[in-house]
Parts: sequence; C-alpha cells; structure tokens
Amino acid sequence: MSNTDNNVNIVQAPDGFQGQGFFATKFDYVIGLARANSLWPMPFATSCCGIEFMATMASTYDMGRFGAERNSFSPRQADMLMVMGTISKKMAPILRHVYEQMCEPKWVIAVGACASSGGIFDTYSVLQGIDKVIPVDVYVPGCPPRPEQILEGVMKLQEIVKQESVFRRSSEKYQELLKSYNFE
Ligand code: SF4
Repeated sequence: MSNTDNNVNIVQAPDGFQGQGFFATKFDYVIGLARANSLWPMPFATSCCGIEFMATMASTYDMGRFGAERNSFSPRQADMLMVMGTISKKMAPILRHVYEQMCEPKWVIAVGACASSGGIFDTYSVLQGIDKVIPVDVYVPGCPPRPEQILEGVMKLQEIVKQESVFRRSSEKYQELLKSYNFE
C-alpha cells in the first residue's frame, strides 16, 4: 500500500517483473486483483450478526475501502455471499437457492458462531453450520464478531480470491466439491 498526498490508498501491484517501460505478470494475478477489490456482497442476515454487518458497512468501518460497498440484494449480481445469523433447518433450502442463483465465480463467508457452527443453538431446529448445505470459504468467529473481525474475514477472502486460478471453477476438484453438496 502506498499513500498519495491526498491520503488515497492505492492497491499494491501483483508480483511480476518490471523494467523500463514494461511490467509483466500472470494473467491470474491481474484477474485476481480486479476480483478481490470489487467483491459485491450479498447479505443474508437473519439475526444479531446482521447488525454488526450494518455497522461494518457504515461510515466508521466503511467496507467501501475494500471495493465492497455495493450490496447486491439480487444474488445474480453478487460475488460474495455473507451469511450472518442463526440459520434454521427450514431456512437451509432458501440459503441453497440463493447460493445457486449466484453466478460463478462466487465465494461464501460464514459470519459469526451461528452461521459457522450453529453457535449456542445446539437444538433440533437449527442448522449446525452453513457448510452442511453450501461450501464456505472463510469463517469469522465470534458471537457477535466485531466489525473489525468481519473486515478481517473480507480481507482473508481477498487473499484467497487473489490467489485463485482462473481455471479453478472448471477443474474436476471444484466440480467434485459442488457434487458433494448435490449441486449440478
Ligand atoms: S453468533 Fe451470536 S450474535 Fe451472531 S447471530 Fe448468533 S447469537 Fe446472534
């Protein structure tokens, strides 16, 4: 990161080779850089953790600094599904439906203990973690996690996105992952 005079942060260039008049890098890195800094969130908030997300979006924490200020309430225009709150077993098919409607490439963050593991609600009606029904990329601990923790989760996801090969989504391994969740 480097600061300019007006204090605007510039995203660091990817690894590569630099010389007079040229800069060469991997195509994957360029695509990854663009994707990582324009992750549009799809908030799926069902309870208290959603309030922490609202604080994360507001001026003090300002998710816009990460290029993620544009909430997408349509799954079709979202990249990053953020699941925040207790997910009941009745709600699980709806969550799957939302995930299915998102276009590839898509990523998922489980925000807070409930989304990650069911939290304190170890009961017959609560899903014990959203990874029972959809694949998860990043887990954010806490009940509730503070906005700083949610931002850290987003930054961790940015690192994953930056490193992801453009061929991953068509790979056998990824198809197997989807199949293990009964997605075609
Ligand atoms: S993890 Fe805690 S704060 Fe978040 S939804 Fe569950 S009970 Fe609420």
